[in-house]
Amino acid sequence: MHREDPEKKMRCIYCGGKPFYHRRYSGETLCRRHFIETIDKRVYREARKHLKEDSRVGLAVSGGKDSLVLAYSVNKLKKRFPDMELIGLIVDEGISGYRERAIKKADKALSHLSVIYHVFNFRDHFSTTLDEAIRLLGKDAMPCSLCGVLRRRAISILAEETEVEAVLTGHNADDMAQTIILNIVQGNVRNLAQEIEFPGVVKRFKPLKEVLEKEVVLYGLMSGIDYYSDPCPYSGFALRNDIRNFLLALETNHSGVTYSIIRSAEKIIEGISPPPKIGRCMRCSYPTTRELCKVCEVLRKVEELKQTSERG
Ligand code: SF4
Ligand code: ZN
Ligand code: ZN
Repeated sequence: MHREDPEKKMRCIYCGGKPFYHRRYSGETLCRRHFIETIDKRVYREARKHLKEDSRVGLAVSGGKDSLVLAYSVNKLKKRFPDMELIGLIVDEGISGYRERAIKKADKALSHLSVIYHVFNFRDHFSTTLDEAIRLLGKDAMPCSLCGVLRRRAISILAEETEVEAVLTGHNADDMAQTIILNIVQGNVRNLAQEIEFPGVVKRFKPLKEVLEKEVVLYGLMSGIDYYSDPCPYSGFALRNDIRNFLLALETNHSGVTYSIIRSAEKIIEGISPPPKIGRCMRCSYPTTRELCKVCEVLRKVEELKQTSERG
């Protein structure tokens, strides 16, 4: 009777080399080189779908692992797309003791890759910082929702200013699944269809959306990427944290669950009716489905609170 050699089974499925990583959900055993290559290939496949060989591309960079792994991987695309231009887009929300340090790491990595970058500062453009807005809003503040709304706009403004064709963001598969569960838990099923294409707003893509967070971490380590790993001071308050831990436990015991959640959401999105008519915000003219866009709503509230606190 033929018996499979257990040694052989444990070898890299591509080259038979020394095993380095076992991808449980797919059953692949990979050597170091092929672990890195399979991730680069996913990034390449995603980029090829949306970009041309001479595209001018924005890269949203925070200094954390996801955005720097994306920067390193996308930078390798230059070999295939030598005329592609990469521009780093960095947002400084004004989170004291945190963002300055993360930006230093981003600066180091992007300089190493010879990628120029532009910084959008909340204070300069929104006349407030995230720290100040959260302090003024008090118990009504939901730091990550607030941050998300303002960061998204910041990236769109930066993308317009730097005239990029598309923006790549570092969201990984875990982030995608967390956002899906978060929206379901909060009753915001319509938000699942997040990628509403607003006319005139630069499109975004997530080349790491099929890569598990643990693989992003491993890629970063293997590539010697010096990223900022301290948690944001507001992250502890987030419901997202609990969902993250819950999904990590699920994925550990039932590998592939993260992808099932993403696939299920894609099916749900197909059934969601198209958004109401897109108009323009009455204050800032940005495309929106509301009279006053979310950014203006939040900034107006913060302005009022600031005036009240200055008067008092
Ligand atoms: Fe913003 Fe929340 Fe991320 Fe901090 S953890 S940077 S507040 S989204
Ligand atoms: Zn191999
Ligand atoms: Zn507005």
